[in-house]
Amino acid sequence: MSTILILGGGVVGLSTAMMLARQGHSVTVLERDSQPLPGSPEEAWHAWGRRGVAQFRQPHYLHPPVSPLLESHLPDVKEALLRAGCITFDGLATMPPSITDRMPREGDERFITITGRRPTIEYAVASVAEKLISVRRGASVAGLLTGRSAANGIPHITGVRTLDGEDLSADLVIDAMGRASKLPNWLEAIGARRPIEEAEDSGFIYYTRFFRSGTGVMPAYRSLVQTYFHSFSLLILPGDAGTWSVTVVISSGDPVLKNLRNPKYWGALIAACPLHAHWLDGEPITDVVSMAGTIDRYRRFVQDGAPVATGIISVGDSWACTNPSLGRGITMGLMHAAGTVEVVQQQLANPLALALSHDCMTEARVAPWYRDTIEIDRRRLAGINAIIEGRPEPDQPADPRAQTGKALSVAMMYDADLFRAGVELRSLLALPHEVMARPGMVDRILEVAGSHEAVLPPGPSRQELLGMLA
Ligand SMILES: Cc1cc2nc3c(=O)[nH]c(=O)nc-3n(C[C@H](O)[C@H](O)[C@H](O)COP(=O)(O)OP(=O)(O)OC[C@H]3O[C@@H](n4cnc5c(N)ncnc54)[C@H](O)[C@@H]3O)c2cc1C
Repeated sequence: MSTILILGGGVVGLSTAMMLARQGHSVTVLERDSQPLPGSPEEAWHAWGRRGVAQFRQPHYLHPPVSPLLESHLPDVKEALLRAGCITFDGLATMPPSITDRMPREGDERFITITGRRPTIEYAVASVAEKLISVRRGASVAGLLTGRSAANGIPHITGVRTLDGEDLSADLVIDAMGRASKLPNWLEAIGARRPIEEAEDSGFIYYTRFFRSGTGVMPAYRSLVQTYFHSFSLLILPGDAGTWSVTVVISSGDPVLKNLRNPKYWGALIAACPLHAHWLDGEPITDVVSMAGTIDRYRRFVQDGAPVATGIISVGDSWACTNPSLGRGITMGLMHAAGTVEVVQQQLANPLALALSHDCMTEARVAPWYRDTIEIDRRRLAGINAIIEGRPEPDQPADPRAQTGKALSVAMMYDADLFRAGVELRSLLALPHEVMARPGMVDRILEVAGSHEAVLPPGPSRQELLGMLA
């Protein structure tokens, strides 16, 4: 039996830990936040102190791949999510009325997800984890311990030191410390090279309010989960216990729209969008909360064919974090966790092979989703910023792949199969190149898009919006 230390007890750290424990390893999670697991999901929502996760009470959504992934790897976590009140939600429920073909298709169940508010999700995950593994809350890790190099003079990690000065050794250390992980600094401190790192401010600001239904029943969708207007987007996420969140996403370069932090203006904007106004019909359970300055950041721990260190790997946000516009972080993190445990099972005895295989798996399975997310966000931000600056929005992106993607966003509103294709892309079920490679797909997209206008969703024009917020 091998000893594995997981640094960070967020959703991805705990899930990785449980998957490894099921392989028979002795796993300990070290979590900096000291507050114990609350007694109920509602207590988690109101009172769980999770300073280590800045976005703990921000909107969260789990995409459909989470459901089969939990069934195969952590079925008890899926049951715990449902017991905690998480709901199943069918992405096809957002099909617009412009599509009259409502016949079900084989495989439609792939669009069903299980989701809830972040504190409820984390409560459910942690309640199973604490029965299976040792979770030491209040254990803040401060640095790495090293031993004899396992390969070619590359620094080898043999454990960690906590802030209290406790040394803990392990056969493998897994960094799951989230977007604020200091691992590159710690590696540098032991004489290792820093990983390759790419980071950029996503350029978005989010203004969110949570609501609860008086009847316990969430209103029905009259739009997609995320709707793009000219210079803002609306994101409506279903939650547990009759709750939902309503988020306005704007560009950080749009000073007037920053007035949306005022609940009066925020409410006026939602009320002015006919397909969204009914989401205000509930009891507000938070103020308008904002989040800005979220970075997209990616790390790679293998350079020129060699890992920067052995004995340590990174999962979830500590490897790569994306901003919340597409709500992909946990789904990507759980995909990464599942790939990580496969690699550990095959290569734990060989630290160099483990580091290299983990890098290959990460690049093949998860990095494409990171790149896809960044590409979508950059395009969207460029479009918004053009409107703010009064420039014409780039009509046709230069990249042919982006052109087809843009055409699909029109065509999916008129064709039942293209709607499914569009939802697959948004739901992490298929990457753009996979969808576009299907026989006849590109032709069909261009044909349907060519015979329909791209219609902006109903709501205030940019000028009306500026008038409302001035
Ligand atoms: C505003 C916002 C909204 C989001 N919305 C969505 C969404 O809708 N859907 C989605 O899937 N994702 C969303 N995300 C992303 C999602 O929150 C992250 O992907 C997810 O939290 C990653 O989980 P993790 O376990 O990797 O890291 P985290 O959840 O960040 O957990 C890291 C843990 O490590 C601990 N830690 C840190 N340093 C130390 C240390 N030195 N010693 C010990 N412990 C330490 C922290 O306390 C924390 O508990 C959103 C992100 C933001 C910013």
